[in-house]
Amino acid sequence: MGSLRVSASRDSCVTSSLCVYRLPQVFDQDAEGRVVVVDEEPPDELRRELLRARRGCPTRSIRVEGPGVGDDEDGGGAQ
Ligand code: SF4
Repeated sequence: MGSLRVSASRDSCVTSSLCVYRLPQVFDQDAEGRVVVVDEEPPDELRRELLRARRGCPTRSIRVEGPGVGDDEDGGGAQ
């Protein structure tokens, strides 16, 4: 069990699939294409990819919480 916690807002998800491509072991999509978190406590070795997925989400629908995880840790926000 990891110390990270992941959640995602289905209300703001625009079904881009980016997070699902990046981390299929953590994110999936329902029949409407909206994000579903399949592993809410992923292992710590996925931290980098999780932060990238969070940053890459066009609607900032992904939340990652845990020790040392800031609001925008992975390199300064959206491009
Ligand atoms: S990257 Fe964001 S908008 Fe795209 S499927 Fe994932 S949560 Fe939804």
